[in-house]
Formats: sequence, structure tokens, C-alpha cells
Amino acid sequence: MTTPTIELKPSATPLSDAERQAILANPGFGRHFTDHMVTIRWTEGRGWHDGRLVPYAPLSLDPATMVLHYAQEIFEGLKAYRRPDGSVATFRPEKNGARFRASSRRLGMPELPVETFIEACDALVGQDEKWVPAHGGEESLYLRPFMIATEVGLGVKPANEYLFLVIASPAGAYFPGGVKPVSIWVSEDRVRAVPGGMGDAKTGGNYAASLLAQAEAADKGCDQVCYLDANERTWVEELGGMNLYFVYGDRIVTPTLTGSILEGVTRDSLLTVARDLGYEAEEGRVSVDQWQRDSANGTLTEVFACGTAAVITPVGTVKRTGAEWQQSGGEPGEVTQRLRAALLDIQRGTAEDKHGWMHTL
Ligand code: PMP
Repeated sequence: MTTPTIELKPSATPLSDAERQAILANPGFGRHFTDHMVTIRWTEGRGWHDGRLVPYAPLSLDPATMVLHYAQEIFEGLKAYRRPDGSVATFRPEKNGARFRASSRRLGMPELPVETFIEACDALVGQDEKWVPAHGGEESLYLRPFMIATEVGLGVKPANEYLFLVIASPAGAYFPGGVKPVSIWVSEDRVRAVPGGMGDAKTGGNYAASLLAQAEAADKGCDQVCYLDANERTWVEELGGMNLYFVYGDRIVTPTLTGSILEGVTRDSLLTVARDLGYEAEEGRVSVDQWQRDSANGTLTEVFACGTAAVITPVGTVKRTGAEWQQSGGEPGEVTQRLRAALLDIQRGTAEDKHGWMHTL
């Protein structure tokens, strides 16, 4: 199987500097897209072929395209940051590339080589480099690689044709007015993923499954849903789009990967960053009862969520059926803030990258 080299066919009509600057002044999240995208095709018997960087444009799909019916789709999310010297680097793209392969296996899709995944991200960031916000704040260029089943037909089976794409969207600071805790609704009746299911794959179906619980959380006045394990409805798993950490003084604990939790790149990085800063960092089981009890007795000093989009978000109010409590008096805790700053400094190139996590173009 050959690895495609990406052919560059740049847009003849990219946005003007003024139009781009207007967007970069207030990008929000996932609302605006850069001038180009990368596409690579896979066909049974032929493998990966026709790697191209082309102008960003709508796709034309036959109504019977398999992904539209059976949701054979996977995606990734990673960021490119501007460094103090003006260069651009992505954060641990090989981890996202490896997770993309793991998601492909779970969904019966072909596995893109990690080098091609990184080459595709680099080609897009290189071409649309002007879209990477200036160094200084927490702004970045969010990359969204994804793959869809493009065979036309209604038979339920793994498709024999796929399209891989990378698009990019400038992302503003997640907390423009300063870091603020999120409120959490602990869902005891709806689950996100089950043992043997696809909770550890990054596939659209998991997010579709989370939308109703998310709407219920909003009804209860909460920002995010915390999911529990499907069997016992006892053990904390993760939020709809972020992993969780529990801070017990100088010891931080994140739920052990069970197969129904997504293995976050931020979660993994924080195990290392926390140890570098002298904390004990481990994986373990935390029950929702323990969360409530330890928060009340003061041994659980902070709770935070982590993921590519927000890096680290403190958890404030927590609600479950029949109970409500406030973590850390509703303020971002000291450990949370220290870890957040340490990781962001590595990502933005203002701290030493001693683990070789930053990938420069
Ligand atoms: N859990 C879920 C369900 C997610 O969608 C994400 C975001 N990718 C995460 C955790 C955090 O993963 P990462 O740190 O790789 O962004």
C-alpha cells in the first residue's frame, strides 16, 4: 500500500488579509474555516491515493453514501500554536495519529499511517499558516482530521471506499475573561458508552448519544455532563468531551481507562506534567459517592476537566439526583491553575519542551 504525497493545489481566491484579520480578532470556536483542506482517498484493492491540498469547499455526496446512514465516521482534534519566534508547532500529533488508527480499527475502517496523518496536518498548517493566531494569548489553530465511508449503497457492511480530510478553524481563548469553573450534572440514568461498545473511539455516534443528556444538563442549569460506568452507575468515567482529574492535596487521580473512556492526549500529558511539578499522579477508580463525600470532608481539594479545546477547566458546582455541592468554593484551585499554566507554556513555546511533544513544521 503506498503512502500518498500530498499534491498542492492552492486556492486562487483565498480570503484577503483584512477579512482574515477580522475573523482572527474574534474567532470563537469552530465557526470559521481556513482557505484550504486536505483530502486523501482510500479504495479497496488500491489503498491510499490522491492526496491533495485543495481550496476549502463543500463535498458533494450521493444521498445513499454509507456514512449518512450507518455513521461509519471517525475524527480527531489537535491544535497548532504560534511560538514566540513566530514559528508554528502542533502538540503531540503522533498521539492523535495513533488514536485515529485505533478508532479506525474499532469502526472497521482502513488505518492511515501516522506519518501520513502528520504530513496532512503539516501540509494544511503550512499552506494556511497566516491563520495561526499571533503568539501571546491562548489562541490557536484547531485542526480537525476526519474520515467518512463514501461507498454508495444501503447494505450494512464496512465500506469499500473512504475519504480522509483535514480542515482547520482558528480558536479563540476558551476563557477570554479569565478561567471560570464549569458546573457539572452527574447523569445516573443515561450513559455515554458501554463495555464492549465504542467509548474509547473518537466517532460521531458517541457525541450523538451524548446530546440528550447534555440538553438535560442544560435544563438543570449545568454546563457539562459527567457520565458514570454503564454497569454499576457508580464509577466516574468522563465528561462528554473532556477527561476528569481529582486533586487530593499533592496527589492527582484520573479514572483508569476502562474501554468506555476516551484516552485523552491532554489527560496523558498531565500525568507527566504533574509528576514533573512534584505531584503524585495516578490512574484509579473514583465513585460519585466518594466524590460527594470527599468534597464535603475537604480531602478532595480540587476537581478539573481536561481536553484539547479548553486545556484545563476547573469544576465548580456539581449536581446529581438529590444532591448538589460546590468544589473549592466555586473558585479555580491552585493545583488546577498551576498545571494549566505549565501545559500551556509548553504548547505556546514559552517553557522547555523536555519531552519532545511539540512538532514543528
Ligand atoms: N473525552 C472525550 C469524549 C473527548 O471528546 C475528548 C476530546 N477529544 C477528550 C476526552 C479529551 O481528549 P484530548 O485531550 O485528546 O482532547
